[in-house]
Amino acid sequence: MVKGVLGLHHVTSISSDPQKTLDFYTKILGLRLIKLTVNYDDPSTYHVYFGDEIGHPGTVLTFFPWPGQPSGRKGAGQATNTSFSVPQESIPYWQDRLKSQGVSVKAPTQRFGDPVLSFDDHDGQGLELVGSKEVEGRIGWTHGPVPREHAIKGFHSVTLLEEVLERTESVLVDTLDFRQVGEEENRFRYEAGKGSAGTIVDVVSRPKAQRGFVSVGTVHHVAFRASNDEHQKDLRQEILKADLNVTPVINRNYFHSIYFREHGGVLFEVATDQPGFAIDESPEQLGTRLTLPPWLEHSRAEIERNLPPVSLPKRIIA
Ligand code: ZN
Repeated sequence: MVKGVLGLHHVTSISSDPQKTLDFYTKILGLRLIKLTVNYDDPSTYHVYFGDEIGHPGTVLTFFPWPGQPSGRKGAGQATNTSFSVPQESIPYWQDRLKSQGVSVKAPTQRFGDPVLSFDDHDGQGLELVGSKEVEGRIGWTHGPVPREHAIKGFHSVTLLEEVLERTESVLVDTLDFRQVGEEENRFRYEAGKGSAGTIVDVVSRPKAQRGFVSVGTVHHVAFRASNDEHQKDLRQEILKADLNVTPVINRNYFHSIYFREHGGVLFEVATDQPGFAIDESPEQLGTRLTLPPWLEHSRAEIERNLPPVSLPKRIIA
């Protein structure tokens, strides 16, 4: 029997400046830079990965920095918010921290019983911190500037904005095996898997919403977890059955991926948990140098020449 996805694997967004992106996510949010590589489809640009201590699936936010590209517009057919979990009692800490770092943040709101802090990064990327009761056992990155007890514990959820709830719901529920678990006004909550980071997708239904435009400051795609290649193959069959156009398996070095656009327009990916980020750097060394996949290594000198220089975050030993 085919089992559905295990939750979120990673979210990939578009930013403007690679250095500003590195600084915001490591120095302000305290995530670990777990991989500095290039966009395999365009090696003249970076692909940077942030996550928890080793980049467990469900904790990984990645960016394509596209300097000089226009700003995107959040709208229908897009993931408009990426939400991280923090301990519930850490919400006041984060409200103060964000303010003190010059990030505009409103007072926490309540959603499905949890406090939510909403803010944007420097490019307008929609972010949230959800005070969650279910972060036990998750460590987060403890060698960054955020004290261990307040560290981000991976994803909570993503929010999709859709004009027609039912057509996205059918992909989530019938194809990927999410279950509907809640409803609050026009927000519908779905959950997959259990007990790990990032098991929730919210769909906000707004029939007359303007379509979004994917560029700087917006989410490029949302990736879900398959446990291995065999599981991904089964999921690919389910996606085909739903009359969705899905790519063949593409080797992304740290995982294997298939991509398809759900009926509402959001680009979805299904990525394998294996082999993970420690295949070309030890867990201690993650994100400390530019890594390239084997098929680009022979062009390293040229690739390095074409990339803008960046300074990498320093590890803090507490
Ligand atoms: Zn991806």
